[in-house]
Amino acid sequence: MIREVRIGNTFIGGKHPVLVQTMYDKPLGGIPKDNDYIRRMLILKNMGMSVIRFSYPDINEHDALKYVVKNTPTPVVADIHFDYKNALDAIKCGVAKIRINPGNIGPFWKTGEIVKAARDAGVSIRIGLNSGSLPKNGKGTDSGKLPGSSELTSSEALSFSREKAVLRDEPSLQEKAVLRDEPSLRERATGEVSSLMVNTALEYISRFENLHFYNTVVSLKASDTDVTYAANKLFSQMSDYPLHLGVTEAGGAISSCVRSTWALGRLLSEGVGSTLRYSITGSIEDEVYAGMELLRTLGLEKKGLRIVSCPMCGRKTFNTQDFLRDAQAEMLGTGKNLTVAIMGCQVNGPGEARGANIAVSGVGRKIFLYRDGEIYKETTQEEAKAELLSLIEKY
Ligand code: SF4
Repeated sequence: MIREVRIGNTFIGGKHPVLVQTMYDKPLGGIPKDNDYIRRMLILKNMGMSVIRFSYPDINEHDALKYVVKNTPTPVVADIHFDYKNALDAIKCGVAKIRINPGNIGPFWKTGEIVKAARDAGVSIRIGLNSGSLPKNGKGTDSGKLPGSSELTSSEALSFSREKAVLRDEPSLQEKAVLRDEPSLRERATGEVSSLMVNTALEYISRFENLHFYNTVVSLKASDTDVTYAANKLFSQMSDYPLHLGVTEAGGAISSCVRSTWALGRLLSEGVGSTLRYSITGSIEDEVYAGMELLRTLGLEKKGLRIVSCPMCGRKTFNTQDFLRDAQAEMLGTGKNLTVAIMGCQVNGPGEARGANIAVSGVGRKIFLYRDGEIYKETTQEEAKAELLSLIEKY
């Protein structure tokens, strides 16, 4: 059984469902102190966001962080790099969780101060390790000094593994091709990097436990999907602490969805992972949507609005592409438990409308709204969004 960890009023691990997270896309100082911020957060929460993280690089943003903690409908996480005092201040602001990589906080006593403050305040900590910032000694942290400026990049770690393979007088690539039972150089390098990540995480956990702190979540992220998969799988076999899953720096929506779904879907279907984030160079609404779609696809989540939409072709009389781009987040943000079909023409429109709770479709030269498979009313491209949202809200 995975250990239960509390993040504010939310729990992960144990028997709790897998949660979707995202990270806010603007500096704290730029957050509008008006209803736009609160409205956006409510939409994200209704879409399925359970936790949101904010970068907190400057304690001069203390008031902005307090505002966020007070006005965000989900637990707030402060992301801290380099300066442990920022973490101490974030805890004073009331955040539910701190995310740190102890390797870039400096000597361990600084991380220890964060751990003690979090312990006393009931705040959880995510140990966030990326393959791009691992300790240089190749064995996790050393006993006296934690890695600060001396870090390996992921490519260095991979070449470190390759060097080791060469030093061991390994067979050539051609020889490996013949010796099919042997792991490939890439498999070996993946194993080296993932082992290093896991060893580092376990060592930090042990140090946290020495300070009587157990409210820990671990993330082991890499832009390489094989490393991400291997590190998380290995950790799950060695520890009962919950894992936050993610493929880091995964690119735009298409590449991130393919890479993240491949790695995270595999892990989740094997029972590994308690929370996740899709990292997308794009909108945080897409990150939450992608996370929830993965959970729904795996049968780990039943709730939420399901969209059925046609790709659009030359037959369309309703522009589904423009419509979906414009209306998707607000549709999902209603939080309704419905199927909504968005169809371009009568070829498949009326048929999909019959299978959906609500639909909008081109039919001949006209556009119709459907409710429970029956025509509800005629509309226009311009009015369709408002009409559909109103129908979803009333359903
Ligand atoms: S429903 Fe109509 S517009 Fe949409 S892809 Fe099919 S034929 Fe094309």
